[in-house]
Amino acid sequence: MRQFTPEVVLPARRGHEQAVLGLLRAYGPLNRGELSRRCGLSRTTLHDTLSGLLAAGAVVTATPDEAPRGRGRPAERLALNPAAGQALGIDFSRRAVYVAAVGVTYEIVGTAGEAHAPGLPWPDRVALAERLVRGLLGGGLWRRALKGVGVGVVGPLTGAWDGSRDGALSGVAALLGERFGGPVLLDNNTRLAALAESTWGAAAGDQDALYLRLSYGVGGGVVAGGVLHRGADGVSGEIGHVPVDPAGRPCECGGTGCLETVASIRAVLDAYRARGGQGDDLPALKAAVEARDPIALGLLSEVGGQIGRVLAALSNAIGPRVIVVGGELAELGAPLLEPVRKALDAGAVPISRHRLTLRRAALGGVAGALGGVALALGESPLLSRYPAPEPEPEPEPGPAASPADSRAGGPADSPVGRRGGRGGPSPRPAVGWGAAQARPRRPLTPLPSLPTLPVSRGRRAAS
Ligand SMILES: [Zn+2]
Repeated sequence: MRQFTPEVVLPARRGHEQAVLGLLRAYGPLNRGELSRRCGLSRTTLHDTLSGLLAAGAVVTATPDEAPRGRGRPAERLALNPAAGQALGIDFSRRAVYVAAVGVTYEIVGTAGEAHAPGLPWPDRVALAERLVRGLLGGGLWRRALKGVGVGVVGPLTGAWDGSRDGALSGVAALLGERFGGPVLLDNNTRLAALAESTWGAAAGDQDALYLRLSYGVGGGVVAGGVLHRGADGVSGEIGHVPVDPAGRPCECGGTGCLETVASIRAVLDAYRARGGQGDDLPALKAAVEARDPIALGLLSEVGGQIGRVLAALSNAIGPRVIVVGGELAELGAPLLEPVRKALDAGAVPISRHRLTLRRAALGGVAGALGGVALALGESPLLSRYPAPEPEPEPEPGPAASPADSRAGGPADSPVGRRGGRGGPSPRPAVGWGAAQARPRRPLTPLPSLPTLPVSRGRRAAS
């Protein structure tokens, strides 16, 4: 059941608005005559389009030219509103929503986040995201001005690009499109965190990086040769489902003894209590660690060793120069990360061992949302091998046409359509890896308000 009444904007008008906004992004302030020539709209249509954009706050009148030409008033120029958002990132993690917004000049307008109970229904999570965005950008200013919304969700995405992993997610994408009025791009939220850390954070500037997040889930992302790796069926980075204990606990993925069953927040807290530790939540565990509780320290040493062995195996396969560890558990610091480093040191092949650097993540909980911003802007070189986003989706007043939710054959059978078009018997989509189009990319500006890099855990001396 929808809780929202979508604003009805005719698709044609939305297209006109996007054309005008695109011109103002590309050329800066323009007068009406210049806009009309470049977009080819009639005077009446352009007038109506601009009226809507001015009323929405997406466009403002800029200072007229200094030197008047002739006797008449200088032509009024129109510009993007610097106070309106240009791209939004939203991270729907398991127990919180984070948002980040950038403005016209790609500066970060702000970031925000709020925890919620696990299992909160999607309409409520979207409403929470909208409230957080309004807090950042003010009521209404972000409407219709957005270049895009990059959204992180939990789990691998099998669809090509349009968010149709299953019926639920496709509904979420449609709902977000209604609420925020821009193209919506979905990706795995941990991979987006890897994108952000590799763009602005602990791995910025490194061409080969491996990111691991230790949170309520365990996941990661791979940057190889300066490109964020998405993988077949969007599965790249599912580090939490590498098996570490064949006799271990069942995992929600269907496997047994995955890294997530020993290194997620819940798994660590369960193991701590099972060994006689006193503490129900992360702050209690952190306090125990600071008090040098031997149960906590012994447990973290073991868990860190398991994490480090997985990272060493991945490192030998992928060859990162930097490994970044983030998530709430990484905030436990050396009692967890030093055992990680030792196991990595023991397991990495000698040629890379001395050059590999382990770092703590720099961007905190909002990394996934910042990665959504980078995805929405689409101008990070790290995305050069990513499939091009779909064209501007047409807003629909009714429920989105969600694909049939065919679960019988597993997630790989989720139909996507739109891209393949071969008409073969298999419903698998044709993922558009091959036809990456060269397009000019503006480098993303550094984020001025983010924390500085943490201390590297070391380039180790030759053993
Ligand atoms: Zn698993």
